[in-house]
Parts: sequence; structure tokens; C-alpha cells
Amino acid sequence: MGIETAPPTDMFLTTQLQKVLNWSRRSSLWPMPFATACCGIELMATASSRYDLARFGAEAMRFSPRQSDLMIVAGRVAIKMMPVLQRIYLQMTEPKWVISMGACASTGGVFDTYATVQGVDQFIPVDVYVPGCPPRPEMLMEGIMAIQRHIDQDGLPAKKQRHPLGITVQPTHTVRPQPAPLTVSVRG
Ligand code: SF4
Repeated sequence: MGIETAPPTDMFLTTQLQKVLNWSRRSSLWPMPFATACCGIELMATASSRYDLARFGAEAMRFSPRQSDLMIVAGRVAIKMMPVLQRIYLQMTEPKWVISMGACASTGGVFDTYATVQGVDQFIPVDVYVPGCPPRPEMLMEGIMAIQRHIDQDGLPAKKQRHPLGITVQPTHTVRPQPAPLTVSVRG
């Protein structure tokens, strides 16, 4: 990336090991996508070239819970699916985090029925709630950055008892008109 050409090569830095560990952890979150409905499409868009989740080091989606440390529940969850979700959560590596993406995952949304879980936080600890139906990719990124900020401040979960963070993302950005204008140049 050219960074090695900027400082003198005999330079060194001193820091605390804990800071390096926190920096590594927050820069390499590996999400476990649990996408069951339309919110999953926004989750996919977050990893696409327009939004590029790789800028935050969290684009390596894994479909193996033992390689993941960030569960993203995107979409409504049927009560029959809940044992599966719980098992996946339990199999994920520690320290691990959970984002509830969208109204359906957080509250059941408009599906106020006996068959739909009325909030996944009744069964697994949720750290960040991302509101919306569906939330835009920027909102999901804000949720991921909320967890990164927490890790940066040594905020790792206690080993003995897991307490959910319970952060709710508030929209702070101005939404631009979509689709953004596309400029095409023709070589002639
Ligand atoms: S919150 Fe809206 S967009 Fe997301 S799964 Fe529910 S209905 Fe679909």
C-alpha cells in the first residue's frame, strides 16, 4: 500500500499489548450472517463494492460458526428456527457479538403472530439494535462501528456471564437520493 515508504525503515513504535490486541480484534470481525428475509439483501449490499464493508475489516462473512465472532440476525425468525439460531450462537468463538438488524429481528416487526419470534433478544444476548425496515447499509455499518468502538475501549464481554450491550443505532447521516448519479465517459 506504499505505507512502508513513508516513515524511515529504522523507526519503531511502543504501545501496550492490550491496545494491539484490541486493535486486531476490532479490525478483523468475522460476521456470521443469519439472513432469513429482505434485510438479508441489505446485508449483502453492505459487502458490495458501493458500500465496501472491507474498509472496516468485517467483510469476511463466514458460514461456519466456529470461525465467526459477530452474528448478524437479518430478518424475521420463526419459532422453529430459534433452536438453530441458538445453537449457532453457542458454537461461535469467544469473544462474540450480536447485531439485531431490522424491525423483524428486534421486535417481530409487522409479523405479530405466534409463529414469529417477537425479538431475538428473548433468546440470545443482543449487543446492537439496528432499526429500520430494512435498515440501509450505512446503518448496519454504524452498528458494526459501535461494536468496534466498544472493543477499542477494552469492552470485552465478561467470561463468566454474558451481558448484552443493548446499544441502539441512531441515524446521524443525511440520506442521499438513490440511485446516485452515474457518470459514464466514452472514449472517442
Ligand atoms: S424489517 Fe422489513 S425489510 Fe427487514 S426482514 Fe422485516 S419486513 Fe423485511
